[in-house]
Amino acid sequence: MKNSQILIFTDLDGSLLNHNNFGFREIKDFILNCIKNGIKIIPNTSKTKSEIQVFLDQLGQNLPFVVENGAAIHNLDLIYPKLKLKKNSLVFSRSVSEILKLFEKSIPIEFQKRCLFLKDMSSIEQMKILGLNKKYLPFALNRDYSMPLVFDGSKKLVNEFTVLLKKIGMKLHEGGRIYNICDDCSKGKAMITLIEKLKNQFDFNSYTIVIGDSPNDISMLNVSDQPCIIPLPNKKNLCHLKDKKIIRATQSAPQGWEEVVRASLKKINFELEG
Ligand SMILES: [Mg+2]
Repeated sequence: MKNSQILIFTDLDGSLLNHNNFGFREIKDFILNCIKNGIKIIPNTSKTKSEIQVFLDQLGQNLPFVVENGAAIHNLDLIYPKLKLKKNSLVFSRSVSEILKLFEKSIPIEFQKRCLFLKDMSSIEQMKILGLNKKYLPFALNRDYSMPLVFDGSKKLVNEFTVLLKKIGMKLHEGGRIYNICDDCSKGKAMITLIEKLKNQFDFNSYTIVIGDSPNDISMLNVSDQPCIIPLPNKKNLCHLKDKKIIRATQSAPQGWEEVVRASLKKINFELEG
């Protein structure tokens, strides 16, 4: 642990942000104090770049972050100055226009017809489906690497569709409200690629704390030094993960986030100052 940089890879919705109102006021000072103590906080989320920017503006900090379920990492120099690459980003996904082209070329027309893309809907329909107001809708729709849609068909057809996408190297992510067609990326793959790059190219040692609440966080929980799980207010989540290493918060977000970070730091005898 000595001479290692502590990196916290964290999901946002339901993990750091309140599940219902997306607030984090109660732990804002704690987050800022972690940063002041040299800990790097790296949001790793299904959110878009512009949605994360809203969070960073509220926090009043610029942070490195991973967008759209592991599609890209931005602000690399804030993790390690020498890591600054072209555009200061690492991109793991094809662009949304390439994904769309491949979809139109390779997916049978009977399945294409069942995909009702949000981009083709009216803003009233979009707001209704996403549960967002006019102010935040454009941030959620401004996607660089994934195509949100409503699938018109049974669970069986969804499974068949998933197999077809897999054959052309793509994934169907199931969100709470919609599906997303994405490249073959994950939060865990993006994280581990970054950690290995830092280790191999710069001999940069890290200690990783990962915080999540949902199935799409499992890939990053699995590759962390310290996995942490935040409970959802009215739903059992990730109860099937039995690794003894896991720290589970007793409170939901945002307070649960502070709880697991404090417990993780205590385990490695890291004392926060201030
Ligand atoms: Mg979440």
